[in-house]
Amino acid sequence: MTLAIGFVGLGNMGGPMAANLVKAGHRVTGFDLVPQALEQAAAAGVRAADSAAEAVAEADLVITMLPAGRHVLAAYDGGLLAAARPGTLFVDCSTIDVADARAANALAVAAGHRAVDAPVSGGVVGATGASLTFMVGAGEADFATVEPVLAAMGRKVVHCGPAGAGQAAKICNNMILGISMIAVSEAFVLGESLGLSNQALFDVASTASGQCWALTSNCPVPGPVPASPANRDYAAGFAAALMAKDLGLAANAAKAGGVPAELGLKAAELFAEFAQGQGGALDFSAIVTTLRKENGQ
Ligand code: NAD
Repeated sequence: MTLAIGFVGLGNMGGPMAANLVKAGHRVTGFDLVPQALEQAAAAGVRAADSAAEAVAEADLVITMLPAGRHVLAAYDGGLLAAARPGTLFVDCSTIDVADARAANALAVAAGHRAVDAPVSGGVVGATGASLTFMVGAGEADFATVEPVLAAMGRKVVHCGPAGAGQAAKICNNMILGISMIAVSEAFVLGESLGLSNQALFDVASTASGQCWALTSNCPVPGPVPASPANRDYAAGFAAALMAKDLGLAANAAKAGGVPAELGLKAAELFAEFAQGQGGALDFSAIVTTLRKENGQ
């Protein structure tokens, strides 16, 4: 079914996602504060609005893809909810705090709308190739409405539970990833110091109980996995700054809920340090280089 979709936030992720909605036949009206982002989206068939309010005024469904929770709450409160027709379905695909996601949902519902959280994994490659994974927090009826729309931008759409559950799934998954990348990196550094070749450790761990995505797909040392960012000077990939952000969200949630999550908190600390300065733009697997330095290697 062709829908009128308002799309707010046409950056690295939102731009190609909006373009894929156009390809799927939807009428997409978009807005971004950065004129260049808006121009790029317009070149892909998105109708460029002069304001966020204009982008959502005629929409059946509104998608936001913004940097952080404060941007989503400010946009919702600052005119988006007021400008939309009553009963519009708001879909926030940004990665934000679980508490902010629940607050955004409550604001939308109080304004007479419906709202779901649907953060993504898969990065810019997934956004461009329509192969994202969506993690959705929504009621049953809203999930049924949003699923085919998200399917036009992704390969997998998972219903994780009610409002906030999508964000919860996203930060829990990325906490596993952040910790496991540090674990794999520490193992390589230890192996090197013991005279073990990276390839030998890879050959064992990738087929034994140490096997994990951080090792077999995004291996932090060059050689064993030719496609991993380590083979191209750690060009991202998944930028360390984004990993630091997601681990910060997980750490906030753990502290707020009184969950110990010691390794998650430590991983958040290590990635926050690493992401300051030039490390932030590198792939998150480049954390191995700081562990090597600490070890004098
Ligand atoms: P980005 O900075 O490239 O894009 C965000 C866009 O939002 C910018 O173009 C900015 O101008 C725009 N914006 C901010 N406030 C606005 C407002 N009030 N009205 C209109 N536009 C506004 O960021 P991105 O990489 O596209 O990431 C977007 C979200 O997706 C973030 O929450 C990020 O954590 C998440 N995410 C990113 C990746 C990735 O690999 N880049 C992967 C998964 C999830």
